[in-house]
Amino acid sequence: MLEIKNLSKCFIDLEVLRDVNISIKKGEVVVVIGPSGSGKSTLLRCINLLEQPTGGQILYMGQNILKLGKKVTDYRKHVGMVFQRFNLFPLKTALENVMYATVKLNRVQPREAREKAMELLRKVGLESKAEVYPLALSGGQQQRVAIARALAMQPDIMLFDEPTSALDPELVGDVLEVMKQLAKEGMTMVVVTHEMGFAKDVADRVIFMDGGYVIEENTPSEIFSRPRNDRTRAFLARVL
Ligand code: ATP
Ligand code: MG
Repeated sequence: MLEIKNLSKCFIDLEVLRDVNISIKKGEVVVVIGPSGSGKSTLLRCINLLEQPTGGQILYMGQNILKLGKKVTDYRKHVGMVFQRFNLFPLKTALENVMYATVKLNRVQPREAREKAMELLRKVGLESKAEVYPLALSGGQQQRVAIARALAMQPDIMLFDEPTSALDPELVGDVLEVMKQLAKEGMTMVVVTHEMGFAKDVADRVIFMDGGYVIEENTPSEIFSRPRNDRTRAFLARVL
């Protein structure tokens, strides 16, 4: 579904991604781990074209998205993104946050958008908070609204960049649970996270990045019990 080939990204003279090759099949959950500054966020930002890669290709359904021109907007609709900070619209209720983009971009009738948004809030366990403003929600609840908002666009693939790192520990579980459920339903997901438990339980594959390179990739059981590369081993020794 997504083929990343020889991807590179430089910021002026800083090489942040180097010759990255990753292939993601439909329905797969890929977890990306690695030290701070290794290029994980940049990789996700290249996938949804928030950053323009310097070299290489990203093929989505066989088409190079770096050559899409104006069709980039169409491509982006297929890709949902959830960030570390939830950046919901503060002056819109949870429900309005979830329905906003669909009404704005897809020209769905507000009533239909509203029903769909309620359904999504139910899915993330927040039906009762539909009329509440973000400031009155906990961080974990805000993050679940952000997930519902991304899902409202009916993406084919969801990118998560450390979705639980800004949360109080007791709020992490609910968000991971929603993500787990999504994975079970067959959503294709790329997840940058430090939650190794989630990686073990949910990932089909774990990718370890360091210094802009993909150092190692394997099934969670292999990579956690028998890391092949010294750098992977050193990193896991620190986080596990
Ligand atoms: P973290 O775990 O801390 O989130 P990361 O693996 O997500 O780290 P990136 O955010 O992708 O790392 O950053 C990789 C490198 O690229 C870092 O050295 C960072 O300073 C640099 N970088 C990221 N964005 C920019 C930018 N817009 N301009 C210049 N340098 C950048
Ligand atoms: Mg990051």
